[in-house]
Amino acid sequence: MGSSRPFLLAVALAVAAAPRAASLELDALADAPAALEASPVLQIAVVDLRELPREVLRAAWSQTAAVLERLGARLRERSAEPGDAQDAGDITVVLLPGRPAPHLKPTVLGVVQPAGAPRVLWLFPEVVAAALGLPAAPGSVWMPRDEALLAVGLGRVTAHELVHLLCPGRPHDRAGLMAERMSPSILRGGPFTVDDALRRDFQRGAGGYSEAARNRVAGVRSTPIL
Ligand SMILES: [Zn+2]
Repeated sequence: MGSSRPFLLAVALAVAAAPRAASLELDALADAPAALEASPVLQIAVVDLRELPREVLRAAWSQTAAVLERLGARLRERSAEPGDAQDAGDITVVLLPGRPAPHLKPTVLGVVQPAGAPRVLWLFPEVVAAALGLPAAPGSVWMPRDEALLAVGLGRVTAHELVHLLCPGRPHDRAGLMAERMSPSILRGGPFTVDDALRRDFQRGAGGYSEAARNRVAGVRSTPIL
């Protein structure tokens, strides 16, 4: 975890931003089984400063949704722009070009804002690409097969970071999705076990998130994020 100086210059509460008519909405689990209908819905607002192909992002969020389904939650996604206010209930996901800032380890795949509003998660696609053995120079362009792999990695890192965001006091696990260093196998889409403790912790965190989001809706409050 770390602060985010370049991108949190203007964090302040503001009153009521109107919903953006042009936002792209995607319910990543439109065909979710009925058992999931009562599950918490996490809403991510994606600011893509790395300008990845749209198909990569769609595949990444599908991967994240598949993991969240195992944790007992659903995912809803929309695109957002730098400077947009953070809607009540949103978790802002920022994809950054290049390597992490010097105060972070260069191998960091993703990082979350420490506990408290606004809720922000940063991803470093080029570091994820390097961890997957893909070209990782700034501005790298990937072949379709590489893009598919990158999407899986990004989606799984996002799921890992969402657990951190919603369960801020929870330590890493020895292995699996929440290992401090995600294994290459899991990063590449390999199987992993979700135990009862992780599912229970996540349910608790997601429940608190949903309740807080409802309260913010009632207060008509939003936060400029970048
Ligand atoms: Zn972690």
